[in-house]
Amino acid sequence: MAQSSEAHARMSWDRYGHLKPELGLAEAAFGRICPFAPSARNEDQIAESLYAGALNRDSLIGRFQAAYVGHVDEGDFRTSGSSGGMASWMAVELLRRCVVDGIAHVRPADPRKDGRFFRYAISRNEAEIRSGACSRYYPVDLSEVLQTIRHTPGRYAVVGIPCFIKAVNLLIAEDAVIRQRIVCTLGLFCGHMKSARFVDSMAWQAGVNPSAVRAIDYRVKTPGRPASWYRARLELVDGNRREKDWWDLVDGDWGAGFFQNPACNYCDDVVAETADIAFGDAWIEPYSSDARGTNVVVVRKPELDGILREAAISNRIRLAPVDAQFVRQTQAAGLRHRREGLAYRLQWKPPSIPISKRVGKSAAHLGARRKLVYRARYLIARESQLTFALAKNIHLPGLYLWWAKAAVSLYQALAYSRGAAGRLFDMLEKICGRG
Ligand SMILES: Cc1cc2nc3c(=O)[nH]c(=O)nc-3n(C[C@H](O)[C@H](O)[C@H](O)COP(=O)(O)OP(=O)(O)OC[C@H]3O[C@@H](n4cnc5c(N)ncnc54)[C@H](O)[C@@H]3O)c2cc1C
Repeated sequence: MAQSSEAHARMSWDRYGHLKPELGLAEAAFGRICPFAPSARNEDQIAESLYAGALNRDSLIGRFQAAYVGHVDEGDFRTSGSSGGMASWMAVELLRRCVVDGIAHVRPADPRKDGRFFRYAISRNEAEIRSGACSRYYPVDLSEVLQTIRHTPGRYAVVGIPCFIKAVNLLIAEDAVIRQRIVCTLGLFCGHMKSARFVDSMAWQAGVNPSAVRAIDYRVKTPGRPASWYRARLELVDGNRREKDWWDLVDGDWGAGFFQNPACNYCDDVVAETADIAFGDAWIEPYSSDARGTNVVVVRKPELDGILREAAISNRIRLAPVDAQFVRQTQAAGLRHRREGLAYRLQWKPPSIPISKRVGKSAAHLGARRKLVYRARYLIARESQLTFALAKNIHLPGLYLWWAKAAVSLYQALAYSRGAAGRLFDMLEKICGRG
């Protein structure tokens, strides 16, 4: 039965550049392994069954054995990773120690052959793992690698954003073969996932036709610039390159939610609470100003904590222990959006199917301006995809770019008091009071 659930969980592209499940005969089973299914166990319940003995427990970070801030010193993992290189390093270490035979993670694909820039693949050696380093804000799906894992005996680790790791855990509970083979999960903290159209939009803004893009790096590190100043690089089929700072893109303000997958509106897990170990960016000073990139790491399985400690003693990685409060601070905006913001969205825009989330539905304490920020994000996420689709269909990129510029100005006025409109919002807020 579980076998059939997986066989039918194929994914296909929708017109907005998101991957969607094609539901077949196994719809009922899919309802149990989809991380957003109302009947699926929630992150607290899954974590309770996996990490009952964990030393720490926090309402936003989940159960964990230890947490650290740091980076890899060994080799060039840090330079070639998006953050401190810890995710790729841990994947390689699991292979070196023969804990696993393969790592399912995301690697670049050939858009002309595969019709996409990235896909999940199984890496079986260090070079393959390292070729997948860096964060890919691009739709991917697990269906093919799960088929491979099913058909190829061995022990595997899976790297994924929180909803993917939750789905893997739900599948593990259903499926004895997968349970035996997936022995480790490596989570990535997640603010939201973007659609494939974000790449097309970058191409438009770099002055090239999207079909001329061969590869994309969302986060190129630039010496001397804070890690938080993202810079994207497009490799073109003619061998040329174009680079753009995210701040110069009309849709590069991460918090505004351009091209966000609609499901992310209803997610309440930022730190991959059901992963054996999870990696994020240390978005807190002095780390966020360090051009080289720094991880925050939350480890839930004692065995993996042992690997970290051993490597730190031998100076292969550098780690300082931190507490839940520190981890919370590194993800303050994401956590606010996924808890306080989610509570408001559940009240303001309840999803069409009933879902159970680990937040209350009351947003009574929120001020009017904060509510407007959450509404603006929701609308930008939705309208950016519709406006982009229209602009693409009528071959008028300027339509989308004009709309996005206006939308982000309004958002930044609301959220950060930027510009004349921001000052106007500040004044109105003073006159009307915060409520
Ligand atoms: C969509 C998305 C949103 C994120 N949002 C946040 C956030 O809000 N806050 C935060 O602190 N961190 C976030 N991260 C995580 C962060 O960007 C880094 O990936 C993380 O800090 C690990 O960095 P690293 O240098 O240790 O990893 P690296 O050494 O660069 O290795 C990254 C590993 O992750 C795999 N990978 C990359 N993209 C994906 C993907 N889409 N799905 C599955 N595996 C993938 C790669 O194949 C590689 O194995 C996000 C990541 C993604 C993909």
